[in-house]
Amino acid sequence: MATTLYWAQCGSCGGDSMAWLCLESPDVVELLDLLDIEVLWHPSLSNQSARDHLALLGSIAANEQPLDILVVEGAVLRGPGGTGMFDTFDGRPKKDLIGELARRARHVVAAGTCASFGGASGEAEVEASGLQFVREEQGGFLGPAFRSGSGRPVVNLPGCPVHPQVLAGTLAALCQGEELALGPYQAPATWYGMLVHQGCVRNEYHEYRVEDADFGTRGCMFFHLGCRGPLAFGPCNKLLWNRRSSKTRVGVPCMGCTMPDFPRDHPLFDTPAMADIPLELPAGVDRAHYLAYKGMAAAAAPDRLLQRQTRL
Ligand code: SF4
Repeated sequence: MATTLYWAQCGSCGGDSMAWLCLESPDVVELLDLLDIEVLWHPSLSNQSARDHLALLGSIAANEQPLDILVVEGAVLRGPGGTGMFDTFDGRPKKDLIGELARRARHVVAAGTCASFGGASGEAEVEASGLQFVREEQGGFLGPAFRSGSGRPVVNLPGCPVHPQVLAGTLAALCQGEELALGPYQAPATWYGMLVHQGCVRNEYHEYRVEDADFGTRGCMFFHLGCRGPLAFGPCNKLLWNRRSSKTRVGVPCMGCTMPDFPRDHPLFDTPAMADIPLELPAGVDRAHYLAYKGMAAAAAPDRLLQRQTRL
C-alpha cells in the first residue's frame, strides 16, 4: 500500500516547497514513484477543489483516510492572543488543523527552520512557534511530550530552506522503516551531526587565521564577515546545493540558518567580536586555548595562503 503524505504550509515564505521542487536525481516525481508515496495534498502540486480538500481533511480527522507522513512547512502562528487567527484555513485557525493532523499522522516532519524552531516569524509579534521548539527551548506548539503514531517526536529538518536531499533522505528512511537516529534538537544525526565548516574549501585559511575583511577574496569569513560555519550543524558543504556549490564555496558567509536562534538579532555579515576575537567560538572550543592557538597559527601562516594562492 502506498505511503500517504500531507504537506501543510503555515507561517512561511514557501521556500522549503520551492527547494523541494528543485530536487534532482531523482527529481520529486521520480522520488515519489520510487518510494510509492501518494501525495494527499501539497500546496504547489495538488489541484483538488477547496471542497475536495476540506472533504479530505474531514476524512483524515475521522480516521477514515490514513495519514502516514505529515510534513509541516513554516511556523505555527498562534497570535493574536493565542487565537491563531493570523493564519486561517476555511475560517479556522490553521494551528487547530495542524494539531489535528499531527495526532493522526504516523510520522511528523518539520521542514525548515520556521517549522522546527519558530524561525524568522518573530515569536513576540505573531506568537510563532516551531512544532516542538521555540528557538532553543523544547516544547513548542505540540508540547515536549508529543509523539506521533510511530512513537517518534517531530523529526526536525532545519535550514532556510531545508536541503531537498535531506528531506528526500528522511522520507526514504521513514517509508522504508529504517533507523533514523535523532541528535540534538531532534534533527537526524546523519545530516546534522556535522558542521557547515566541515568540507568548506576555506578550512586551511581558517586554520592559519587568514581572514577576509571584505567580500570577493579567498580567506576565511569567520573572523569579520559573520560566518557561522564552525557553529552551525548541517550538511551544506557535504551535500552541496544543486549538487554543485554552497554559500561558503562562492564566498558568502554561512548565516547559521539551521541553528535554533536563526535569524539572530545581529547584522548577517558581521562577526560580533571583543579584542578582535569572535564572541562565538567554534562549537566546543575553549576560549583561552583558542586565543593561544590562533595567535601561533597566524604567525605560522604560509605565504601562499597570505597571498591567497592555492599553489606554490
Ligand atoms: S569560511 Fe566559514 S565555513 Fe569556511 S572555513 Fe571559514 S569559518 Fe569555516
